[in-house]
Amino acid sequence: MEFTAQEKYEFKRLLDNLRSKTGRGTELISLYIPPDKQISDVTAQLREEYGQAANIKSRVTRLSVQGSLESAMSRLKLIPKPPPNGVVLFIGSVDVGANKTEMYSVALEPPDPIITYRYHCDSSFLLEPLEEMLADKKTFGLIVLDRREATIGVLKGKYIEPLKHLTSTVPGKQRKGGQSSHRFQQLRLIAIHDFYGRIGESANDAFLAIDPKDLQGILIGGPSPTKEEFIDGGFLHHELQRKVLDAVDISYTDESGLYELVDAAQDRLLDLELTQDKLVMRRFMKELVSDKGLAAYGEMEVRHNLELGAVEVLLLSEDLRKTRAQIACTNRSCDFSESQTRSGASAPLGNCPKCGSQLCIASEEDIVSDLSKLADQCGATVKIISSEFEEGAQLYKAFGGIAAILRYKTSHI
Ligand code: ZN
Repeated sequence: MEFTAQEKYEFKRLLDNLRSKTGRGTELISLYIPPDKQISDVTAQLREEYGQAANIKSRVTRLSVQGSLESAMSRLKLIPKPPPNGVVLFIGSVDVGANKTEMYSVALEPPDPIITYRYHCDSSFLLEPLEEMLADKKTFGLIVLDRREATIGVLKGKYIEPLKHLTSTVPGKQRKGGQSSHRFQQLRLIAIHDFYGRIGESANDAFLAIDPKDLQGILIGGPSPTKEEFIDGGFLHHELQRKVLDAVDISYTDESGLYELVDAAQDRLLDLELTQDKLVMRRFMKELVSDKGLAAYGEMEVRHNLELGAVEVLLLSEDLRKTRAQIACTNRSCDFSESQTRSGASAPLGNCPKCGSQLCIASEEDIVSDLSKLADQCGATVKIISSEFEEGAQLYKAFGGIAAILRYKTSHI
């Protein structure tokens, strides 16, 4: 399943939230249930664990572990059968400070299918399997070669995986006695051509097996003019030939050459990652100084334009840490309510302007989700912009992390 920018953002935030939760003992339960697992089997295991928990000496821990297990079992009753990707449950009494705990539980369907069933009890939740799913799956093909040796591999996220090593029978430049120089050169060229052919075939086998959506490009390294000869000679499948991003001078052509290649192409890789974000931010900056007036920024103005349906692209900084809350009055006979953007759960609420009673939060959601929903309603594209490049950092610092490119000019508010 391919995550949209917003889903990815929400998922990241959820993981951040889960990571911050701790229990006192081992009462935080993480359950990873694959799609083909019987829920009744899981419940049976939890029941057994519940029985075993009776042996825990500390009364507080025992009650807390049993409470978590009970809560997990009743949550499972609501899931007759795992959804297509399986289901993950995080349940347990989490520390909420001031010597208090609170029962926390969340169930979610992960973006990729769960392969392995896991039942895990600890003082924190088990998040690695989910983190792996969220990790970058972008893949790059790697080829390093000279006339004697070649290595083929892939770069997946941050990991380099060598796939194939080839050596040639290309003779050295010095001919043996008795051979005519012309004949020798001819044989040598044929041998080189054959070797390139073998490299091409191996690379085709390796890279065509990767989902074309995941294969972002191919990097080729080696001495000159070998790599250029290989690239220009059409030894790669035409689909792959199109994906050649860069040819880099490197000195090793064994496995270590793959690492050297990735190192040397680092800037190019980072550029690629950020290009999309960069392009849209540049467009925004251009609109900002143009007299067409198709740029808006700041929460109030962008929200106004979203409500008008005038937004084409909504730009949100990934560093935004705000929520949109519905505020209500604690006095039941008072009907005061308003929407408020809050920059932290601890920001004081104050008193009701109508009756003076204490105000409270009726509902609260992440501002990125809140604005993204508005954007969806008017068919605007949402871009969550990284702060790892200049214009991206500027979006956060200079424009409050919220900006928009408009479909048409609107009046300022
Ligand atoms: Zn009131």
